Order: sequence, then structure tokens, then C-alpha cells
Amino acid sequence: MSDGIPAVTNWAGNITFSAREVSSPGSLGALRELVAASRRVRVLGSGHSFNEIADTDGVLLSLAELPPEVDVDTAARAVRVSGWLRYAELARRVHAHGFALHNMASLPHISVAGSVATGTHGSGIANGSLASAVREVEMVAADGSTLTLRRGDDRFDGAVVSLGALGVVTALTLDLEPAYEVRQDVFTGLPLAELDFEAVASAAYSVSLFTDWRAPRFNQVWLKQRLDGARPGDAPAPDFPWAPPATEPQHPVPGMPAENCTPQLGSVGPWHERLPHFRAEFMPSSGAELQTEYLLPRGHARAALDALDGIRETLAPVLQICEVRTVAADRQWLSPAYGRDTVALHFTWVKDTAAVLPVVAALEESLAPFDARPHWGKVFTLTPETLGARYPRLGDFAALATDVDPSGTFRNPFLDRILPAPGA
Ligand SMILES: Cc1cc2nc3c(=O)[nH]c(=O)nc-3n(C[C@H](O)[C@H](O)[C@H](O)COP(=O)(O)OP(=O)(O)OC[C@H]3O[C@@H](n4cnc5c(N)ncnc54)[C@H](O)[C@@H]3O)c2cc1C
Repeated sequence: MSDGIPAVTNWAGNITFSAREVSSPGSLGALRELVAASRRVRVLGSGHSFNEIADTDGVLLSLAELPPEVDVDTAARAVRVSGWLRYAELARRVHAHGFALHNMASLPHISVAGSVATGTHGSGIANGSLASAVREVEMVAADGSTLTLRRGDDRFDGAVVSLGALGVVTALTLDLEPAYEVRQDVFTGLPLAELDFEAVASAAYSVSLFTDWRAPRFNQVWLKQRLDGARPGDAPAPDFPWAPPATEPQHPVPGMPAENCTPQLGSVGPWHERLPHFRAEFMPSSGAELQTEYLLPRGHARAALDALDGIRETLAPVLQICEVRTVAADRQWLSPAYGRDTVALHFTWVKDTAAVLPVVAALEESLAPFDARPHWGKVFTLTPETLGARYPRLGDFAALATDVDPSGTFRNPFLDRILPAPGA
């Protein structure tokens, strides 16, 4: 690529993509031609991943110039959505039809295809990851043809959390349910010593615990209560005997402005304005942070939190905030919640890769006894061998990727590093 073109980076700015330009086809036909004619292609979603997963030295594709589609099928309780649309826009449109998604991530500004490709999740012991709502995925394959896989097809469970390795996801069909309201409350100062993890994680539809690990306690616990059919006035305060309610709105990161966050203090509102932590109207164009997350069997939650407490003096100096959530088991091969009810231990670090990487390595060591799987879109240092042991279907996925993309058009160094060679 020629000099003088500004480098393209991810949202956090810690990754500069090898392809210095983004191509943005204006029609599906142009997209097919471009893919079929290209040696190497990767799609850039909203760029909210923190590692080289989206990188390529070939064509970096944005789908943002394609005509967007949000098609709600009331009878089928489903929505067909363009892959590049962001959850905030999808949620607004779905809600206008009287429907809802089962869950959302903390930030609504992430693209649908990019989120499900990395196994992105919200919280709730009965809530699967965002990929678990996908009924059908439609892709442009390496030769420019259309590949559609539906729930129930042999290869479907390998094709949703796809790491972008199978094709360009142009559309997804997602499950819907009737729209519902959510009441949000925050509690402050829950000592680790008094934590009954199962009881706290079950205290609402979606629960998040936050700690900066500067002490053995959770600074905040966010409860999102689902109120199917109840009128706002009938929504009682949650029964939460372990910590006092906050008296003013909170931001999870100490010192950050709470006005960027969704309404709290018992405020009731539509699902899509309470399930994310951050407001759709507030859209940071870049982020001063790095992120890491490990997902492990929920039964290990308490022991894993005690292990983190044991290294909190290592974690705290580079940590902005740690969030603990739960995810229900699913069947998607590369989902971090594949086959097991899960606790997710998330870390928002300061934006200093050199300082953070050794701490991530120490964290991985302390979580090794718990079979911890890394989030695909975040910073991790585990070896391919360890990834293969923790993700039991990684070999099956590698075979699927080779089958669907024999020319390796969608391969990149990230995939070359983590995927076992065929037959290995
Ligand atoms: C502030 C912040 C909050 C976050 N909150 C959460 C959270 O609550 N829960 C959670 O689990 N994660 C969370 N994440 C992580 C985030 O959800 C993932 O990194 C996700 O992949 C971001 O989606 P994206 O569109 O930005 O993906 P990108 O980073 O743009 O891409 C990710 C991968 O998807 C592929 N891809 C993207 N679009 C397509 C497409 N159309 N076709 C084929 N492949 C495609 C890319 O090639 C790449 O491999 C958060 C990240 C940030 C920055």
C-alpha cells in the first residue's frame, strides 16, 4: 500500500491492520466480484476486537456501503439482518415491531456479524451467548457464491462463531421474543468473603459483578430484572441482602461519568435500553483500554475468584475494572460456553500492551486449573496446544474451514496460529 494513506486501526488503536486500506463495495454483486478476485480477504466489523483476528495483508472489507436490511417476520418471530448492522440499530428496529432479543452485550455499538463471530455474550445464568439466537447465517464464499446454513444443518454449529474464517457474512436470521421491560438496580460494596456466587448470579435475569481488585470485594453489582407483563409501578426492588443499593448512578470504572451508562436506581425501561451497560446515544469513536476475558465452568466460579484474589496485587496496577458474568451452555463449536454453563471473567486493562501482557500471562497461569477458554476477540497469550485442549471442537472447525474455503481466501496469520493443521 502506498505511503501517505492513514493506517487503519481497530477501535482501541492497539492493532494497526496490515492492509492499510478498507474496500467498501456498494452492492452485493460488487462484493461477490471482489471476493472472487481476491487472494486474501478479511471483513472488518465495527473493529471492537483487541487482537489481530480481523487483520489481513490482503483486502480488508467494510460492508458499510451495502444497503442495510432489517426484516422482521412476525409469524416466524425472527429478524433477518445485515451482518454489518450494529446491535443498537437492530434493537431499535426490532423493538418498534414489538419484539426483543434475548440479550445484549455491554456495548450496543458492536456489529452483529462481528459479535457472533467471536462468541460475544451478555450475562444471565439462563441466557446463551448472542450467537445462540442465530437461526441462519448467509455468507459470500471464497468463489463469490452464496453459502447459507440453518439451525439443524450438519455444519451449522460450526458456522456461527466462525472467527470470520468461512466467508463474508452478509445476513443473519435471529430469534425474537415479545418485547419486555427491564428494571436496573446497582448495589455497592459486596465483600468477596460473603459472596454466595450462585445466589448472587441468580438474583436477576442478568447480573454483573465489578471489582478493581484493589480489595477483596466487588465495588458494584448490577441487577437487570426482566418484567414480563408487569407494569413499571409493579416492579418491586430486588431482594438483594448482600450489599446496600447505590444512592446515585454508577459507571463500572471508578471515576468515569455515569451519564454514559444506562439508567439505574430502579429505573424501568425497554430491554434494549437496560441490558447494555452503555447508552446507544453515547458512542466512543476509540477506546483507551485493552480487554481480556476467560470463560470457565460456572461451578468453578468461587474457586477462580479466590485464585484472582490471590494475585490481585499483580492485577490491580494495570486494571481499570474486572467484570464477572454468566452465560448458559450452548452447542456452537467455538463458543466459549460450548457444552458448559459458564462464568465469564472479564478484564478492562489500561491501554499499555507492554505492561498488560505479563499480567495476562500471570492471569492465564492462575486460571489454568479451571479449563479457562479465552474470548476470541480479546487479548490472550495461550499456545495453540492449550487452545486445542480447551476448545474441544477446534480441530473440527479447522476441517470445516478448509472444506468451505479450500483456497484459504479467509485465512490470516491469527487463524494460522490458532488452528491446527488439517489432520493434526
Ligand atoms: C467497549 C467494548 C465492550 C465490549 N463488550 C463486550 C461484551 O459485553 N461481551 C463480549 O462478549 N464482548 C464484548 N466486547 C468484545 C466485542 O464484542 C468483540 O470483539 C466483537 O467481535 C466485536 O464485534 P466487531 O464487529 O467490532 O468485530 P471486529 O473486531 O470488527 O471483527 C471480529 C471478527 O469478526 C469478523 N467479522 C466481522 N464482520 C464480519 C462479517 N460480516 N463476515 C465475516 N466475518 C466478520 C472479523 O473478520 C473478525 O475476525 C466488547 C468490546 C468493546 C470494545
